[in-house]
Amino acid sequence: VSRFEGITMAPPDPILGVSEAFKADTNEMKLNLGVGAYRTEELQPYVLNVVKKAENLMLEKGENKEYLPIEGLAAFNKATAELLFGADNPVIEQQRVATVQGLSGTGSLRLAAALIERYFPGAKVVISSPTWGNHKNIFNDARVPWSEYRYYDPKTVGLDFDGMISDIKAAPEGSFVLLHGCAHNPTGIDPTPKQWEKIADVIQEKNHIPFFDVAYQGFASGSLDADASSVRLFAARGMELLVAQSYSKNLGLYAERIGAINVLCSSADAATRVKSQLKRLARSMYSNPPIHGAKIVANVVGTPTLFNEWKEEMEMMAGRIKIVRQILFDSLSAKDKSGKDWSFILKQIGMFSFTGLNQTQSDNMTNKWHVYMTKDGEYPWRDYHQPMRISCRCHH
Ligand code: PMP
Repeated sequence: VSRFEGITMAPPDPILGVSEAFKADTNEMKLNLGVGAYRTEELQPYVLNVVKKAENLMLEKGENKEYLPIEGLAAFNKATAELLFGADNPVIEQQRVATVQGLSGTGSLRLAAALIERYFPGAKVVISSPTWGNHKNIFNDARVPWSEYRYYDPKTVGLDFDGMISDIKAAPEGSFVLLHGCAHNPTGIDPTPKQWEKIADVIQEKNHIPFFDVAYQGFASGSLDADASSVRLFAARGMELLVAQSYSKNLGLYAERIGAINVLCSSADAATRVKSQLKRLARSMYSNPPIHGAKIVANVVGTPTLFNEWKEEMEMMAGRIKIVRQILFDSLSAKDKSGKDWSFILKQIGMFSFTGLNQTQSDNMTNKWHVYMTKDGEYPWRDYHQPMRISCRCHH
């Protein structure tokens, strides 16, 4: 008898479980809309040309595989903070940003969660309803209490702005408010600049701390600056805030696990102390981060020709997503006689789209048509809205 008898089977991950079911399907028509990864017109994964060029550059330079410091590659940390806040943002010169390289967006969120657990005991994180499923896992795992604020309104297939504001207002003073910097996952619905201002107002009023998850900078609109405008708007108000970044989507570095956690503090001194504690947490978790993706990002951002080429490729990907949305909308409008309004497909931003399919319809898509979509059973709204990655076929 096994010593591990007491360990029961874990439930499958709602997103990655879809991929497993997809793999098991032998039908040629099968399509995986489960995982948020870009695909070319030919349904293939895409390695950006700038990434290949940066890798060649790295090979030519004969770069080694020595350990990075706990906080990661200095050139990467500098580049990533500048991309986020803008190189000329005074917060950079004032050295008020503590930046630590993380294991992509997920690892950076997890590190921040550990910091919250240790230094803000009992503080709550409020997250949007719905949100990326892993947010709940991350905070549960870090033992950080969380609750939800209203975000998605099924009636308008848009933002429940009043609900959002009143729930953020009702959260205990000094809560962390998790916000998607752009291209909200899974709804594809972002606040307008005016709404962001109001969100910042209530957060300031209630002494909350904004905690941005920026997994799609440049990938949503095609512009790095436009997609960072929410974060910059809060920073310009002199607020302290956290930002987790990811290069999985915008540079297509999914498997390299490259991202960062940034903590914007009101003084350089506070930033130094925060950084020292982030490093202390990282040391026991994974010691130091991987070098390859960090070097790619540093080379791409630090080489003007590559940087420009990256922007072009990002615009291409973001543009293709929009084209795919249009094609999907056009074909649905032409063929669907049910009278359903599909225009939300065009309004939503980024890789994700809420289809409005119920559980039965979504099961039918899989069982009859071999189209695999997330069926996040944990989502209470599953009966009326299924998140779907528009990406796969399309552009994903
Ligand atoms: N946050 C959000 C909202 C995401 O959609 C994702 C990717 N699905 C991530 C974070 C993190 O992804 P990664 O760990 O690959 O950077």
